[in-house]
Amino acid sequence: MTAPAHLIKGWCPGALRPMRSGDGLLVRIKPRAGVFSISVLAAIADAAARFGSGEIDLTNRGNLQLRGVSDDSYDDAITALRAADLIDRSAAVEAVRNVVVDPLSGIDPERQNVRYVATRFEDVLADEPQLWALPGKFGFSFSGSSQPAVSGRPADIMIAATGEGFDICLDGAVDLRCAVTEGDVIDAVRRLALVFLELAAKDPAVRRMKDAVARSGAVHIFELAGLQASSRTVDVSIGSASAGMISHGDRVSGVGIGLPFGRITADQLVLLCQCAESAKLKDAFTSPRRILVFPVAERASAELLLQAADKAGLIVAPEDARLQMDVCPGSPGCGNATTDTRGDARRLVGALNGSLSGYSVHISGCEKGCARQSAADFTLMARAGRYDLIRNGVPGDPTALANLGADDIGNAVSRFILDSAS
Ligand code: SF4
Repeated sequence: MTAPAHLIKGWCPGALRPMRSGDGLLVRIKPRAGVFSISVLAAIADAAARFGSGEIDLTNRGNLQLRGVSDDSYDDAITALRAADLIDRSAAVEAVRNVVVDPLSGIDPERQNVRYVATRFEDVLADEPQLWALPGKFGFSFSGSSQPAVSGRPADIMIAATGEGFDICLDGAVDLRCAVTEGDVIDAVRRLALVFLELAAKDPAVRRMKDAVARSGAVHIFELAGLQASSRTVDVSIGSASAGMISHGDRVSGVGIGLPFGRITADQLVLLCQCAESAKLKDAFTSPRRILVFPVAERASAELLLQAADKAGLIVAPEDARLQMDVCPGSPGCGNATTDTRGDARRLVGALNGSLSGYSVHISGCEKGCARQSAADFTLMARAGRYDLIRNGVPGDPTALANLGADDIGNAVSRFILDSAS
C-alpha cells in the first residue's frame, strides 16, 4: 500500500521549501557549522514573532524552525531571514546542507574544534551539484572527540576527530573506521557520498547509508571510494552536551540551556539574547539534544544566563527528565497527529515524578516519527487518539502494549522501568 503523501518519510522542510503543517507553514533555518550568532538568534526571534506564531522548534539536527508562518507573511519572513544571511542560495543547496557539529567543539578543551572542517565541507556541498541528488534526510556529522555519533545521534556519514587526524564511519557500521589526515578528510567524505549515490541509483531500496551498508557492506563502500577501513572500538564513556554549567575543574567554559520538548517562544529567545548580549557573548551552538550551548568563560555571566533561563521556564539542570524525551509537535500543530503529544509528555513527566532513570522516551503523534530517528527505550506512537508502546525501537516496530489512553502511559512506562530494575 502506498503511504499517504503527508506520511512519506524522507522529505524535510527548509526555508525555501517550507512544509505546511496544522498551524501554518514550517520554515526551517539551518545554522552554519552548528553556530548561530546571538544577533542572528535575535533576528530569528523577531521573525518568529512578526511572521509566525512566535513558537520556534529546535530540531533533532540542531536546526531552528519557525512555526505558524502564514501564506501572506511567508515572503516577508524570507526577506527578514535573508537580511540576517540565513537563506541558502537555492532550495537544492539548503536541502543538502545537513551537517551536525558537536556542540562542545570549541568549548570543551579536550575536544578538537571541528567547526572549520564542517564549514569547508558545507562549501563543498553548496558548490558540487552532483551532491544535491542526496536524499533530503541524508546527513553528515562532525565530532570533536573520537565518539562518532554527535550527542548519541548517528548520521549517515560521521567524521570524528582523533587528535592525529579524523576517523570516518558509516551509519550501520560504527565498529569500522577509515583513518584519514586533515588534508584528505573533505575529499574522502565527498567520495563516500558519491559512492552512496551510485549504489542508490542501482537499487531504489537504498535510501540511506545504513541501507547501503546492509546491502553492500561498509568495507566494500569504503573500497569503492578508494579508502581502507579497519575495525575500531567506540569509546562510549565520552559524554555529550547537557543543560547547566559546563566546566572543567574550576574553569567554566559554557552553559547549556535545554528547550522543553524542543520548543522555545520568541519572547524566551529574546530574553536569552538580551542576557547573552549583556555578557558580551557572541555565539550559541545547537545540539541535536535540543539544547542551546553558549560558550561562556566567566562564572558570573554563566550563572546570570542560567538564572534567566530558569526564570523563563527553560531547562537548566542535566537531570531534568524532559531532556530524555523527544516529542514531536503533535496536535494541534501537526495535521497528522491524533494526540496532544506535548501535553501528554508533560503529564508523563509528572507521573514519573520528574525522573526517567536515564531511559529515553520518544512520543510521536503518528507513525512518521519526526522527532527521533534512532531507537528509544520507550516509544509512544499515537494511533487514532491512543498510544502504542514500543520497547527499544522506533515507530512501526512491534508493540509491547497497544491502545493505551493518555492517562495510562505513565503507569505503563513506570511498570517497565520497575521490571527492568528488579
Ligand atoms: S510524527 Fe508528529 S510531527 Fe511528524 S507527521 Fe507525525 S504527528 Fe506530525
